[in-house]
Amino acid sequence: MERNLLDNIEEILLMGPGPSCVPPEVYRALARPTLGHLDAYFLTIMDELKILMRRIMNTENDLAVPVSGTGSAGMEACFVNLLEPGDRVLVLINGVFGARMREVASRLGAEVEVMDFPWGTPVIPSLVGEKLQDGDYRLLAVVHGETSTGVANPVAEIGALPRQDDCLYLVDAVTSLGGMEVKMDAWGIDALYSGTQKCLSCPPGLAPLSFSPRATARLNSRRGKVPNWYLDLSMIVDYWGKKRVYHHTAPVNMLYGLYQALEIIFAEGIEEVFARHRRCHALLVRGLEELGLRMVVDEPFRLPMLNTVYCPTGVDEAAVRRRLRTEHRIEIGGGLGPLAGKIWRIGLMGHGAVEENVGRFLSALRATL
Ligand SMILES: *Cc1c(COP(=O)(O)O)cnc(C)c1O
Repeated sequence: MERNLLDNIEEILLMGPGPSCVPPEVYRALARPTLGHLDAYFLTIMDELKILMRRIMNTENDLAVPVSGTGSAGMEACFVNLLEPGDRVLVLINGVFGARMREVASRLGAEVEVMDFPWGTPVIPSLVGEKLQDGDYRLLAVVHGETSTGVANPVAEIGALPRQDDCLYLVDAVTSLGGMEVKMDAWGIDALYSGTQKCLSCPPGLAPLSFSPRATARLNSRRGKVPNWYLDLSMIVDYWGKKRVYHHTAPVNMLYGLYQALEIIFAEGIEEVFARHRRCHALLVRGLEELGLRMVVDEPFRLPMLNTVYCPTGVDEAAVRRRLRTEHRIEIGGGLGPLAGKIWRIGLMGHGAVEENVGRFLSALRATL
C-alpha cells in the first residue's frame, strides 16, 4: 500500500464528553499478544478483572462482567435482561442519556413512565418519592452523571427512597465511574453499567456491568427468554463464571486494556483520583469565569468530569470548536438537543484530568475568543 491513513493520525488532546485521552500503559496493554479466549492464562486475567470491577463499583455482587460493546450496550443489556413485556418502568430524564433509556425500555414492550426535569438541573428525589408511591414499578432508572448537561444526579438519595420490594434500581454510571464515587451496594443499586472511554481512560469498546443478587434473581426467574441473544447475561455469566462455556469470542485485547486502566487507577489511589478530578474542575471553572463565561449548572450539582459553559452571545460556537481542533489540537464538545449551539462541553476525564491540560485549554480558548 502506498499510503496508510493511520500514519497521519494526530495526537489530539481529548477534552470533550468522551472518548478521553488514553495513557501509554493502556496502549501498550492493548498491543500485548492476543491469547485464546479460553486460554488458562487469559482466564486468570478475566478473574482478576472481575475483582477490579467490583472494587471500582464498590460492590460484592457475584455478577460483574464487561459487556462487549460501548456504554449503550451496557444500557441495552440492563434493560433487555431485566424487563419483560408489560413491566412498568419509571425513567427519570434530565438529558440525552435518560431519554435514551426511555427509548431502549419502550422497544422492549415495557410500560414506560417518565419524569422529566429541566436540562441542566438535577432530578429532585422528593418528587420521585411521591411518584413511587402510586405505581407498582418493576424498575426505576436514572443516569448518575448526565454527560449531555454536566449534572450529577443524586443517585444515593434516590436509592434511599422507599419503594416496593420488587422495584429494582438501575443506574447509568458511564461518565461517573472512575471520576467520582460510585457505591453500588451502599446506595442500593441493583443494576449498574459504565463504559471504558470516559473516566476509565480506555478506548471505547467495553461496558463494565454488575447486577445485585436481586437483579440476578429477576433475570433467573424470567417468564420468557432474554429477547437479545448477544446480550443475554444468563449465557454470558457461564463464560465469565466457573463453567467457561463459549458464548461469543471475548474482545481479548480490549480486556487487557481495561485491566491495565483499572490497575493504574488503583495504583494512584482511588481517593487521589477523585481529588484530582475535583481540583482540575475547580481550576477550570475559575478560568472560565475569569474569561467572563457563565456555567450552565448550579455549583452543588456540577460534575467534575464534564463541565458545561454557555457560549457568549455573538460567538459562533461551532467555529470556536473547529479552531481549537485545527489550531490547538484540542477537542471539546458542543451541546445536544435543546442546548445545541448554546454551550460547550469540556471533559476532564480520567488520565486527561490534570492541571496542565486545564491550563493548555484555557490559554487556547482565550486566544480563540
Ligand atoms: C457516553 C454515555 C453513554 C453511551 O455510551 P456509548 O459508549 O457512547 O455507547 C451512556 N450514558 C452516558 C451517561 C454517557 O455519558
